[in-house]
Amino acid sequence: MSADHSGIGMTSQRTRVRMIERLRAQGINDEVVLAAMNAVPRHVFVEEALSSRAYDDVALPINFGQTISSPFVVARMSELLRAGSRLNKVLEVGTGCGYQTAVLAQLADEVYSVERIGSLLTRTRSRLREFRLSHVRLKHADGMLGLPEVAPFDGIIMAAATTHVPPSLLEQLAVGGRMVFPKGSQEQYLCVIERNEHGYTETVLDEARFVPMLSGIVES
Ligand code: SAH
Repeated sequence: MSADHSGIGMTSQRTRVRMIERLRAQGINDEVVLAAMNAVPRHVFVEEALSSRAYDDVALPINFGQTISSPFVVARMSELLRAGSRLNKVLEVGTGCGYQTAVLAQLADEVYSVERIGSLLTRTRSRLREFRLSHVRLKHADGMLGLPEVAPFDGIIMAAATTHVPPSLLEQLAVGGRMVFPKGSQEQYLCVIERNEHGYTETVLDEARFVPMLSGIVES
């Protein structure tokens, strides 16, 4: 990925390689996902004071009470979403700092990402601009409603937990498509919903911890 982020330079490249080795050891084996995460400089997405921890396997605060998911969770969700093939059109609910968005940009032909907090999105928009990702569109919107104007999606990924998947998101999933999200509130699990011509199938996987999905949009 191009974008000159001087200062951390080579150190971050080496640290990133170590992060990839760790992800591999943790069971991530989709090489396309690993390559994508190797290409995206994660330290650019966290506050400067935390950049030395950017490649550690932890979730970190990103302002507005939100968190950037740990590298393992980003890798795991990306791997589940891809299920071994290139994605065409993807919807991400909860842009946050834009790290997962930048990873998705390596995995899909078109990425639409929506965020409900306006001022968080404004910052993320300018950060992502440096990467010149012309196939990524960000929108200040309530992701619970999806994006009917561009649906259907062959992948939907949610960065916030919900006990019930909003019906509009289920409708906007293409037949053959897959949705990955944290299900629950206090207790959460990563969940995959696949749509086939007969309906939907749900698989519940690893334990998870995400901020809750909230409805409506806010400016800050
Ligand atoms: N993938 C992000 C994770 C951010 S945390 C990252 O790497 O930074 C989850 C984000 O989901 C928060 O920014 C929160 O504001 C957003 N969110 C929660 N409910 C939402 C909704 N209904 N629509 C859009 N965004 C939502």
